Amino acid sequence: MTGPLVLVVPVYNEAALIGESLPQILHAARAAVRSAGLDLPVRLLAVDDGSSDGTRASLARLKAQDDAIGFISFTRNFGKEAAIHAGLQQACGPLQARVMVVIDADLQHPPQLIGTMLEHWRGGAAVVEAVKQLRGDESALRRLAARAFYGTFTRLSGMALDQDTDFKLLDRDVALAVLRLDERARFFRGIVRWLGYPAVRVGFDVAERAGGQTRWSLWALARYAWRNLTAFSSAPLGLVTGLGAVGLVVGFALAAKALLDKLQGQALTGFSTVILLQVIFGSLILLALGIIGNYVARIYDELKQRPHYVIRPEDIA
Ligand code: UDP
Ligand code: MG
Repeated sequence: MTGPLVLVVPVYNEAALIGESLPQILHAARAAVRSAGLDLPVRLLAVDDGSSDGTRASLARLKAQDDAIGFISFTRNFGKEAAIHAGLQQACGPLQARVMVVIDADLQHPPQLIGTMLEHWRGGAAVVEAVKQLRGDESALRRLAARAFYGTFTRLSGMALDQDTDFKLLDRDVALAVLRLDERARFFRGIVRWLGYPAVRVGFDVAERAGGQTRWSLWALARYAWRNLTAFSSAPLGLVTGLGAVGLVVGFALAAKALLDKLQGQALTGFSTVILLQVIFGSLILLALGIIGNYVARIYDELKQRPHYVIRPEDIA
């Protein structure tokens, strides 16, 4: 089919830099298409994830300057995952994209790499993933947290995603498959990997942010990590069962001892043991309930079938 290359760019409060970065991304993509000798129009679709700074106005200006640029805005901040989802939906639907590239607005994903990605796509690759060789300007704490998350994620889900990013080229068929997975708790990287299309991986070094600040606090990252873990693995529930089994064995041993003490007429000793057991098993039960409750909450979220995002009415056209 014919159809454009659509660059899907999630943006949230990036007024400080999109005036520069979006034209730069578009320019790099056009150059890449030209040098690959492809006959492919290029469109850039920014998804404004409910920004509260001048992002919308800036996007409108960019659109007026270059009609290859388009954007949609959410009514509020729905998160980057929702923004990517909306971008792919718009790209596959109204824009009839033949191929799309998801890329950050802050130039931490080097647009020069689009050329290499397109070469692989022309060579038949349905997915081209850009993977981090060097993580950028991260603090030691963030690096450690990332390592802990990916280590656990790999062990529990069997998917190694530690170098993966959202910077990916997807052929139309792959994007449609991504969109068919309709879960609310989305994890783009995990979904693409789960689909299992053969992917070509190209490395890049994460640059410094072009301006502004990362949109992720450590707390937000921790919540995102837990959400993604539970979206791709039910192992934490297995952990609860394991703890219960261990507790049962210990319980039986202590019960036997208590009985023996009673028979020997020494029933009053062991008061501290009782207290300790109360405390330990009390917390274990709460922890277990918490983990199970988490999954129940997730089932509830999925069951409600709420839309992934809401687009501002004036942008629907
Ligand atoms: N972003 C978004 N919604 C959010 C947070 C971030 O659309 O709620 C966008 C942001 O504008 C940027 C990309 O996602 O284009 C990556 O965000 P950021 O650079 O803050 O993340 P980091 O590079 O630190 O992982
Ligand atoms: Mg960034």
